[in-house]
Amino acid sequence: MSRPIEALFNAAALAHNYQLIQQLAPNARAFAVVKANGYGHGLKRVVSALPAADGFAILELDAAIQLRAGGVNQPILLLEGVFDAAELIECALYDLSIAVHSAEHIAWLEQATLSRPLHVFLKLNTGMNRLGFPAETAKTWAERLRFCKNVADVTLMTHFATADEPAIGITDQWGRFCEATLDLNLPISTANSATIFAYPEAHGAWVRPGVALYGSSPFADRSADCLGLRPVMTLHSEVIGVQELVAGDTVGYGATFVAAHTMRIGVVACGYADGYPRHAPTGTPVVLNGQRSRVLGRVSMDMLCIDLTDFPDAGLGSPVELWGEQLSIDEVAAAAGTISYELMCALTARVPVRVV
Ligand SMILES: *Cc1c(COP(=O)(O)O)cnc(C)c1O
Repeated sequence: MSRPIEALFNAAALAHNYQLIQQLAPNARAFAVVKANGYGHGLKRVVSALPAADGFAILELDAAIQLRAGGVNQPILLLEGVFDAAELIECALYDLSIAVHSAEHIAWLEQATLSRPLHVFLKLNTGMNRLGFPAETAKTWAERLRFCKNVADVTLMTHFATADEPAIGITDQWGRFCEATLDLNLPISTANSATIFAYPEAHGAWVRPGVALYGSSPFADRSADCLGLRPVMTLHSEVIGVQELVAGDTVGYGATFVAAHTMRIGVVACGYADGYPRHAPTGTPVVLNGQRSRVLGRVSMDMLCIDLTDFPDAGLGSPVELWGEQLSIDEVAAAAGTISYELMCALTARVPVRVV
């Protein structure tokens, strides 16, 4: 038998989450965001589970080409556009849509000789201050693109910084976007997962769900379950060692956990080299045999320790869920001081994935 750690990939849950988003945004088409290897779930797996998706959005040109070569016929959007002029030729060849966010992009488009005109998403900065033209200049750039022979059509795009924070919301950015673009009369794409749930007025022509597709809540104060989302990834392993501790014994590197009394602990075959967060502190929840227990001491590269004291039936071979069906990845992420996105993306190549 091999090392017992495994990630389960629930294709039906992914399809369910995509459908839920379609129901929430009935007048929009939805790009399934599959950057970063499908948020760590495996690009091919994710795309295969969504055969009827309206489109896919991704960052990596080679991965986009792989999708086309693999028979994906839907629109594919490159969220950061191209990184040099030569990549435009490949975009035309493989019919990839591109975000355009800088004057260089526009100049490259104007000077290129392409096998077909491209669908362009003009990225506007409305306050995130990451990529994009100042929203107020939208008209100038949209005109340039309208007269460019290599541009088939233009969609206006922006990205919100605080759609997941109800106290701030999208009001300022959405207002700036609307004011700058109202008379351009072009289709728009502004909604990430949080915006899809919280701001129907900003759905536009294309929504861009990422984390919600994978069954995680984009909000700190609302669970995925209460939003109707199902977890796609379950990470599980087993207890491969048991130790009996007496008061004063410590656990793991740095001896950071000290037993206050007699305890039984289980050693689980899962560590940071599998993608479990090293900074998950003592107390981070796990599910042991269907019941909640907790991490003790520091997470090692290949192992972590959990409390078996209250579970006399647990021992070698007991199943342990790190996150997934029985334990929300959002809860584990919060305990570890991070977000589910980081945990999903961090799953490492050595963890075998089984499609269920
Ligand atoms: C990653 C990304 C998304 C998806 O965001 P989620 O919060 O995961 O829904 C949407 N739009 C752009 C531009 C992105 O880079």
